[in-house]
Amino acid sequence: MDPFYFVSWFVLGTIFGSFLNVLILRYHSGKGVRGRSRCASCGKGLSWHELVPIISFFALRGNCTSCGSKISYQYPIVEMISGVIFVFSFSLSLPILSTIVLISIFWLFLFISAYDLLHTIVPNEGVYLTAILSLIFSVGLGNAYFLDQIISGIALALPFYILWVVSKGMWMGLGDAKVALSIGFLLGLSDGASAILIAFWIGAVVALIILFLDWQKRALLMRSSKLKLSKRARTIKREVPFAPFLALGAFIVFFFNVNVFNFLLF
Ligand SMILES: [Zn+2]
Repeated sequence: MDPFYFVSWFVLGTIFGSFLNVLILRYHSGKGVRGRSRCASCGKGLSWHELVPIISFFALRGNCTSCGSKISYQYPIVEMISGVIFVFSFSLSLPILSTIVLISIFWLFLFISAYDLLHTIVPNEGVYLTAILSLIFSVGLGNAYFLDQIISGIALALPFYILWVVSKGMWMGLGDAKVALSIGFLLGLSDGASAILIAFWIGAVVALIILFLDWQKRALLMRSSKLKLSKRARTIKREVPFAPFLALGAFIVFFFNVNVFNFLLF
């Protein structure tokens, strides 16, 4: 790949990522996405040199120039991932319309993931738009059959829907079912199921790490304060947003052509 294009796509992606950060913070907050970006802590309007994707964050060492309060790592991370999405999508050398739709799909997956992490809810409009764009990409611009993709989407969403009903929303949110629907529309049954399986594996590893860190912190706390935690505190439920893992699974399967069933069968 020509390094010039590589860098250009990445930079373009980070600029869109910058806008995505605004969207993640302000969507459904009643603030609207227009108007200048401000420091979340002191309200100072940010000037252009404080708004350069990724670079500003590190140049300012993650602090506001006016009040010195910490700027969230969300900003550079979302900008970087957005840049990566642009690079991967362009590198497939698809027709331009397909590339734009593909970028939109994974850009929306990123929006849904970050929104889920921040607000623990999957934004409906975002996930419905992803589902429609996924069908346009696989059926309209690709060579998948409409009925195949519809059935795949429903088949992959159904287990999540059942989990949501059975657990009354405790184990899975309805939003996860909608993300699984989009994955089926985009990847079909076999690749889609691979993406979900990979999501569960990565999710399990991350959950174990979180549990371990929690356990360490609690052990430290109990040693220092000699406090016995109540039974309720020890078994407290931690809601781990699952949409980011589903999106990551879809990304891995789509761009790296990983199908765990081919891998397991042959
Ligand atoms: Zn500030």
